[in-house]
Parts: sequence; structure tokens; C-alpha cells
Amino acid sequence: MAESLSFFQKVNTDFDKAARFTDYPLGLLEQIKICNSSCHFTFPIKRDDGTIQTIHGWRAEHSHHNLPTKGGIRYSTLVNEDEIIALAALMTYKCAIVDVPFGGAKGGIQLDRNQYSESELERITRRYTYELIQKNYIGPGVDVPAPDFGTSETEMAWIFDTYITMAPDKLNAIACVTGKPIEQNGIHGRRGATGRGVVYGLEEACSIEEDMKSLGLTAGLHGKSVVVQGFGNVGYHAAKFLMESDARVTGIIEIDGAIYNPKGLDVEKVAEHRAETGSICGYPDAELIKNPNDGLELACDILVPAALENQLTAANASEVKAAIVAEAANGPTTPTADAILQERGIMVIPDTYLNAGGVTVSYFEWLRNLSHVQLGRLGKRFEDSTQHAMLHAVEKATGYQFSNEERQSIHGADEEDLVNSGLQDTMIRAYQELRETRMAHRSKNDDVDCRTAAFINAIHRIAQSYMQLGIFP
Ligand code: NAD
Repeated sequence: MAESLSFFQKVNTDFDKAARFTDYPLGLLEQIKICNSSCHFTFPIKRDDGTIQTIHGWRAEHSHHNLPTKGGIRYSTLVNEDEIIALAALMTYKCAIVDVPFGGAKGGIQLDRNQYSESELERITRRYTYELIQKNYIGPGVDVPAPDFGTSETEMAWIFDTYITMAPDKLNAIACVTGKPIEQNGIHGRRGATGRGVVYGLEEACSIEEDMKSLGLTAGLHGKSVVVQGFGNVGYHAAKFLMESDARVTGIIEIDGAIYNPKGLDVEKVAEHRAETGSICGYPDAELIKNPNDGLELACDILVPAALENQLTAANASEVKAAIVAEAANGPTTPTADAILQERGIMVIPDTYLNAGGVTVSYFEWLRNLSHVQLGRLGKRFEDSTQHAMLHAVEKATGYQFSNEERQSIHGADEEDLVNSGLQDTMIRAYQELRETRMAHRSKNDDVDCRTAAFINAIHRIAQSYMQLGIFP
């Protein structure tokens, strides 16, 4: 039954499960759950060969309890209204879980980007932005898009340029979209932020000895075997940072096949191989698994779905061999699969928490754009001169001469360091809150899993916002 539910119905199933552990009025819960507004628009584009094609695009603003709303733009053939609303809802809960003051939104265009030339994609993106402007679905204080599946900094740059050309308020227009290229008011660390956040979240979860023991694992990421599905922005960065944290990335699954090496894959070399050949398949230092779906059933400690929704289902959840499923993608596990995984004692770290790194760093970018000041710049000059004086004093007192390298490593934090430490703090704090909720319920004999705990925390935070708005006395 649950497998045939739409994506938005599945999100609401998870919400309802958590709502039962709260005592808010039904009307308030209904208001939190419902999508506040959505828009489907169609427009024609002239293709390079002269033919005319109708393009379908959507934008959904799930919750206006905080403004602006925030969420990525996705290019995929699977995009439809239900998917966009479901993803916008997940954004609402995600922002609440990591305490980023946005409502949730999402947008998408139904297309396979590989079928279009660069200039066709630019025309489509600019026209989509024009539609968003016309319908008041974009603006620094209204609704702020970002990259998602099938889009990147390039599309964000086209959105920014189209918006600023038409914006009456040029001063703040730079905050109309995040995930921009650095040279166009983007922020250092945004590109890898979602993958980095996944690793910070995993690091925190795996640091708790008691929880790891119950999964038959030792504490820490060191030596843990990991299989990653989807080698795009999120999957690649998660794999790269996992490898840097001493985990062993033993499998990578892509749309056309999977590769496996129990000793561990060199993530950068796999990326280079894909850049040269167009595929991870054929990577020399690994076994090729022709059917990518089989990759999800590989033995490993941590399985990281980082591609699309509905990947772990009633059909394959009993075959998952991992002890932890780390949801880097949005909605990769259906409610039925989730129940099977919980039943089997597998820990599922939910998307609403684990992939919040992107929106967290987008929040930093948006704040920086609105303040028109580079992060760390104000304090940096003071810090630099203080450090210089301190090094000089140490040299004078000890007679020791610091090398240039040593001076560099003592140098103050740059923007990326600040972004990463803000992201790390956010992921640690949100995980601790999630775990506290689980423990509080466990002491009352309620078996609350991580996803339900995350939803409970989101509901509390959103309910508080509504109460502050005076809507529910
Ligand atoms: P992306 O387009 O950069 O990469 C997706 C990758 O998945 C591609 O390499 C694609 O070939 C691969 N893929 C597609 N279908 C697959 C399948 N069935 N099996 C294996 N591989 C498959 O997208 P992304 O930005 O990395 O997004 C991935 C997921 O993470 C999505 O669910 C997205 O909503 C979520 N997410 C992304 C961000 C972000 O900042 N980009 C933030 C939060 C969540």
C-alpha cells in the first residue's frame, strides 16, 4: 500500500508518524503540512535545429512561516508537480531541523539535460527565471533558489544575471539565488557543502560509542567501508571527504553501472577516469557491477544513497547489507523500506538532517550577500596584525625564526574555514538535538527512530514560529 503513495504522501506519512508524539492542535499540524503555494508554467523554446518545443517548469513554496523560502532547482525527466511539492516540504523540515530561518521551496524543469546544447540550456534557464520573476517566485526576501539534481553554479549564474537585469532593487539582488560562482558573489565552500555536511553528520553519529556498539561497529569513521550511490555533486563530495576522514569508499554506483574494490577506491582517480571517458565503468582498479541496482546490496558499513528518491524500496530493503543508511539524497527510502530497515536494526540517518549542509552554507551566502561584506574580512585585518605581533614576540623571546610555512599555518581563518566550521557546528548541534529527542522518548518507552525524531524537532520549531507570528495563541 505505502509503496503506491505519491512522494508528497510519503513525506506526509513520515510527518504524521512524528506528529503523534506532539500535542499541537490538528489545525496547526495541517497548516504546517500543507503546501502554501505552487505554480506550473509552460513556455516555448526554439531549439538549435529550429524546431519549437514546450517546456514544463514548476516552483513550489511549501511554507511561508519564514521568508524567504529556499530550495534548489532540479533538471530531470522525472520532475512533476508532486515531486516538487514533496521536495519543497522536505526543505521546510530540513531548515527547521538545522535552525536556518527559511521556509521550504523547490523548483524544477522536466528535461534530460544531456539532450540539450549549452545555449539551449541557457535559453531555458533564463526563460524559467523570467517566469519566476513574473509570478513573484524569486527575490532575496521572497524565494531564493539554489542548485539541485542536474543543475550547478552555471545555471545559478544565468538565474542571477537574468534577475539582476530586471530587478528594481539592484543592491540586494545579488541575494536572489545561492550556489553562485565565487566570482559572482558566491561563497567559498558552497560547492562541496552538502557532501561535507553529510560527512560531518556521519562523523557525529559514528562518534557515539553506545550507538555504534548496538550496530556491531566501533566508534569513528576510521576504516569503515562505504558504498555511495550517485557520483554527482553530493555523492562525489561525500565520497571525497569520507576518504579524507579515513573511511574506505569501497563502492560507487552510477546510472550505467557500479564499481567495487573492497580495499577502497581512490575517489579522485575515479573522478578523473569519469572526466576522461564519460563513465565510472571501466575504472581499472575495481570490479565492474553491470546492474547498478546490485550495488545497493553490496556488503558495507555505510550505504550513502546520493542520487534520487525511491531507491530503497520494499523490493530491495531486505537485501541491504549496510549497518547505517546515510540519506544524502532527498527521499531515497520509501516508508515501507524504512520500516524494513528499522526492523532489521539498520540505522537510517534521515535526509531532512543529513543533507542540510547545502542550505546551511546557502544561508551563509545569502547573509553575506545582504551584508555586502566578505565573511571574516572585518575581523581578519585585526586578527592578522595581532598574530603578526604575537609571532614577533615569540621570535624575540626564544630566538626561534618561524618559516614561511609555519607563518602560513598560524595565519587567521579564511572564508572557507569559517564556512566549514559554521557548517560543522550546525551539523553537530542538530544531531545532538535529534538524539536528545530519541533518548527522551526512549525513556518513555516510545521507540522513536532518527527520522521521526528529526520530524518531531522540525514540528516544534515550526510551531514556535507560527506562535511567534501570533497565528495560534
Ligand atoms: P547531480 O546532478 O550533481 O548528481 C546526481 C548523480 O546521480 C549524477 O551523476 C547521476 O548520473 C547519478 N544518478 C542518477 N540516477 C541514478 C541512479 N539511478 N543510480 C545511480 N546514480 C544515478 O545531483 P546532486 O546535486 O548531487 O543531487 C543528488 C541528490 O542530493 C538529490 O536527491 C538532491 O535533491 C540531493 N541534494 C542536493 C543538494 C545540493 O546541494 N546539490 C543539497 C541537498 C540535497
